[in-house]
Amino acid sequence: MSFVFTPPAIPSVAVTGQAARFPVHRIYCVGRNYEDHAKEMGHTGREPPFFFMKPADAVLPADAGQTVDMPYPTLTANLHHEVELVVAIGTGGSNIAAADAHRHIYGYAVGLDMTRRDLQSDMKKQGRPWCIGKGFEHSAPIGPITLAADVPGVEAAGIALQVNGTDRQRSTVSKLIWNIAETIEQLSAAWTLQPGDLIYTGTPEGVGAVLRGDVLSATVEGLAPLTVRMV
Ligand code: MN
Repeated sequence: MSFVFTPPAIPSVAVTGQAARFPVHRIYCVGRNYEDHAKEMGHTGREPPFFFMKPADAVLPADAGQTVDMPYPTLTANLHHEVELVVAIGTGGSNIAAADAHRHIYGYAVGLDMTRRDLQSDMKKQGRPWCIGKGFEHSAPIGPITLAADVPGVEAAGIALQVNGTDRQRSTVSKLIWNIAETIEQLSAAWTLQPGDLIYTGTPEGVGAVLRGDVLSATVEGLAPLTVRMV
């Protein structure tokens, strides 16, 4: 087969302990999936899960030990951090039951759902799609993926974000409203999951703005940390 121009490179994420990389197919995100974050965004904290997507090439992958530069995006004066546990799908499927969900998971990583909050808020008020607030270039920084078998305790792991060494977000994955298996069940009822899909599972409370020059340190216990510098 030939193409009329050279196809773009496949976006990919590092895998701990392997030279081979994880090729990204789609990026799904869960909205308002921690009660105290839902409340800080003006909601009750309990609602059915809902999803949005970022383009696959929105990933900004960091290799082990690397500080990755994120260009401050255009059109915003209120860029927010959202630290999230990311689930990497290794085996696809549709209508996956929660009880079977873990068989579809390749591994986990720490990610940031970077958000142009001012644009997202404008779109919400107007009942318009969130794409401009959520799905821009470099909006999905992500650290190396750890194989699922190597982090058996991830569902109860601490999750945190520091900016310039100061705590901004600190919670535990056990506070997810819709846990990992339930999220995969709901997501796979709406879309056929494919190997290479990433699921950003939602952020705990404490979201806030970052500025050029800030250094973001995102952690989930048991996973490779993610460090991002805003430039
Ligand atoms: Mn988010």
